[in-house]
Amino acid sequence: MNHIVYIALGSNLGQRMENLRSATAWLEPQIHVVVKSAVYETEPWGYADQPAFLNMALRAETDLSPSALLAGLKEIESSLGRTPSFRNGPRLIDLDIIFYDDILLDSLALTIPHPRLHERAFVLIPLAEIAPGFIHPGIGLSVEQLAANVGKKGIKLFPG
Ligand code: AMP
Repeated sequence: MNHIVYIALGSNLGQRMENLRSATAWLEPQIHVVVKSAVYETEPWGYADQPAFLNMALRAETDLSPSALLAGLKEIESSLGRTPSFRNGPRLIDLDIIFYDDILLDSLALTIPHPRLHERAFVLIPLAEIAPGFIHPGIGLSVEQLAANVGKKGIKLFPG
C-alpha cells in the first residue's frame, strides 16, 4: 500500500475500550494498521460536562485517497452507532485523519494535517509514542516538539 496515514481515535460513550477495538478492526483491510499507541484516558475538551475520553493513535497504510479515507472513517463511525452530536460533544467513536503522508490539504470537507492537532494533548501524547520524529508538514516541528509544547494535565495512561 502506497500511503502512510496517522489516525486519532476517541470514545467517551458506552464500552469505550471496545469501541476503540472495534473501530481499529473495521479499518482493515483497506486501511492496514501497522502500529498502535497505548490508550490514554483524558478529560473532555471544549465541553466539560461529559464522561472522560479514551484516546489513542495509530499508523496505517492505505491506497485510499484522502477523501475516500475520510468517507471510510465516517462509515465506520456510523456503523458503530455514532449519532450526530454537537462540536466537541460526547461520541461513541471519533476517527480523525491526523497526517496523510506529508500532504497539505485544505478543502471544505477535509483539512490535513488535522487543523487542531497541535493544540490537543490527547492527540499529541499518543502520537508522540508512535511518530516522535514525524515533522508536521505545515508547522515544520516534530510531533515530539509539538507534544512538549502542550499541557499534559488530565491525561493518563489507561490500563489494559
Ligand atoms: P468530528 O467528527 O466532529 O471530528 O468532525 C468531523 C468533520 O470534520 C468531518 O465531517 C470532516 O468533514 C471534517 N474534517 C475536516 N478535517 C478532518 C480531518 N483531518 N479528519 C477528520 N475529519 C475532518
